[in-house]
Amino acid sequence: MFFCSNCGAQVIEKVPAGDSRPRHICVSCNAIHYQNPKIVAGCLPVWDDRLLLCRRAIEPRHGLWTLPAGFMENGESTEQAAARETLEEACTDVVDLDLYGVFSIPQINQVYMMFRARMASGDFSPGEETLETRLFSEHEIPWDKLAFPVVKRTLERYYRDIRNDHFPVHVEDIFRHPARKP
Ligand SMILES: [Zn+2]
Repeated sequence: MFFCSNCGAQVIEKVPAGDSRPRHICVSCNAIHYQNPKIVAGCLPVWDDRLLLCRRAIEPRHGLWTLPAGFMENGESTEQAAARETLEEACTDVVDLDLYGVFSIPQINQVYMMFRARMASGDFSPGEETLETRLFSEHEIPWDKLAFPVVKRTLERYYRDIRNDHFPVHVEDIFRHPARKP
């Protein structure tokens, strides 16, 4: 950040009084521009014993498979955001959303909130950001063509839990490059 979004003046990085981290502070109006993680809400849309995945029509990871998910908008709940993203990306309505995973990705300052959800009908089609939508049985999941580690993690948890018919909420951290031993 170089300029203040309030007044257009220059911003500097400085630790405000009483704070412990450097922030972007406007030299003119003194506004402190905090930057915090963003929430991504998404679904595991279930139809019978199959899951709906979307093949991305946008970067990053164009052409790879993902679960419908996206950034929350102001004024909506996490469940509304997850259902809206599913409607936008896969043109399908989901109901009975159950929180399933809270995945922090500290390296990119994102928190994913993934919901298990029942598809209201077997109707679906690719939205604007999607090349292709398809229902997958477990043995058909394109494990080597998944777009993001968080998608892989969510699906791994889901298929493990489905064997036990028990779906606890998973709260986990995902690191893109696991720390190596020195
Ligand atoms: Zn300013």
